[in-house]
Amino acid sequence: MTIESDLNRLREAYVARNPESQRRYQAATDVMPGGNTRSVLYYEPFPLAIARGEGASLWDADGHEYTDFLGEFSAGLYGHSHPVIRDAVINALHGGINLTGHNLLEAQLAQLVTTRIPSVQRLRFTNSGTEANLLAIAAAKRFTGRQKILVFKGGYHGGVLTFATGHSPINVPHDFVLGTYNDQAGTAALVAEHAKDLAAILVEPMQGAGGCIVGHPAFLEDLRRLATEAGALLVFDEVMTSRLAPGGRQTVLGITPDLTTLGKYIGGGMSFGAFGGRQDVMGLFDPRTQGHMGHAGTFNNNVLSMSAGIAGLSRIYTPEVAVAFNARGDALRERLNATSRAHGSTLQFTGLGTLMNLHATPEEIRHSDDIPASGQIVKDLFFFHMLDHGFYVARRGFIVLSLPLTDDDLARFHGAFAAFVDQYGKGLQK
Ligand code: PLP
Repeated sequence: MTIESDLNRLREAYVARNPESQRRYQAATDVMPGGNTRSVLYYEPFPLAIARGEGASLWDADGHEYTDFLGEFSAGLYGHSHPVIRDAVINALHGGINLTGHNLLEAQLAQLVTTRIPSVQRLRFTNSGTEANLLAIAAAKRFTGRQKILVFKGGYHGGVLTFATGHSPINVPHDFVLGTYNDQAGTAALVAEHAKDLAAILVEPMQGAGGCIVGHPAFLEDLRRLATEAGALLVFDEVMTSRLAPGGRQTVLGITPDLTTLGKYIGGGMSFGAFGGRQDVMGLFDPRTQGHMGHAGTFNNNVLSMSAGIAGLSRIYTPEVAVAFNARGDALRERLNATSRAHGSTLQFTGLGTLMNLHATPEEIRHSDDIPASGQIVKDLFFFHMLDHGFYVARRGFIVLSLPLTDDDLARFHGAFAAFVDQYGKGLQK
């Protein structure tokens, strides 16, 4: 048996098991290009139609139940309709939505975030992490009077700020300089070359969408120093990594960026983004000052996101819970890797805390070019194997924990992975 034939067998079983998902997908292609409105969710032969969720469970249109190990690509930290979040949303609905004014909630959520992340002295809300990064870039350009933005290959800062393979035709047309993640010498040389034009260094402390590639502390410390020396701003995109510790990865590293961008779970699972940081930089947006920068957005302060966000940070994802939750993630990742090694397979999970990604190489992954392209077939096999065993994960091998997952869920997940390396180990050995 080859990996290809195993994959075909799993795909055929998938098609046979999911007629209603297939029917719905085909109907959707009549009204949306490729039946899709969010590229990452498409996979062949057709994606599952998810009908509903509860806690850490999902049900598809054919009635199968899955334990959710993807958690809305990290925005679903609280699980599906956590009772505290549900009450917060219902309370907001009772108070009236679309209030067309400063409301009673926005400063409360801002207060919670600034207390948790000390480098964020002032912040403003957006509708998405993408927008947060767009605004952070605009702020850095205005503050420094410069044009260039240093980003890193493999980085993802939003739908129009995607650097998976370098530059992308869909990106906003800023003057980007492309560096190599975790490359200290190369990055120092790039900064030296562009120093006088550099407005900002925009970086994820761990590349999330790029495959959970951990930023080395020395590399990230270098970025802090290089930005300061060049007179540029250091922007940490913590849209994903803020969940890794009570104050985001920056507090673990002891690095103070000038600006931070946020998103995902902080809005309690509603549409959300935020950008914030140094008071003098954020002061550019102060509407009381002459020549301030405008920052519009009908739903920036929408009460559903504000209310759910406040409930989540103040009543569920407390600093103690954040620490314990990520320790569980670290323990799971180490256990999965130990099992892979014990079977002599080449698979490894990279990542930190509750964010991890499968890769088909045992070597250290320092940047996106270290990810073997040939590994996608193994990731596909893993994806369909895990679906077959009742676990919902990302096709690219991305695994995200959510709070309602029990220790039993983690143990079952580990068991399904052990079965995977056991069953397909021969094809995955060194
Ligand atoms: N930045 C990072 C690090 C992300 O992972 C994402 C989304 O995955 C974004 C920005 C964009 O956030 P949104 O999807 O809310 O626009």
